[in-house]
Amino acid sequence: MTRRGRGRPPTFIDAQRTLYLDLITEGLSLDDAATRTGITRQWANRVAANDPSFNTARELAKKEGKRARIDRLPHDEYRYNHHKCRCTTCRTAATQARTGRRTKETDDTTSPDTPHPPQVIDMRQRTPTREESTPPPLLARAS
Ligand SMILES: [Zn+2]
Repeated sequence: MTRRGRGRPPTFIDAQRTLYLDLITEGLSLDDAATRTGITRQWANRVAANDPSFNTARELAKKEGKRARIDRLPHDEYRYNHHKCRCTTCRTAATQARTGRRTKETDDTTSPDTPHPPQVIDMRQRTPTREESTPPPLLARAS
């Protein structure tokens, strides 16, 4: 039987599929996993769209890969806040960071005797960091 039309027949053999899924499971991005496997991201997506079992396997791999990436994060305040890690290391780091911020806020408070006219802060140039909580825009006046 001869294949008709549409260019080179697809090659994405089982060994490649396994490698591709393993790489995703390890936490690589879909792009990187495809590149390392020797296929394109587009091709992998197309196979996934036409092969439900491959798609299911890839969804599972993505989920495990995400967990693997989180597991590789250091235990610190970020992990405590964003990934709800409650181990001793993360708790301690978060507590220390909070305490540090509270102390700093107290130090920064200007004396109430000093006249300090209200000042509009241009919020567009301020990028909120995790170090400070940004007030709602309507209250964004330093007093
Ligand atoms: Zn932790």
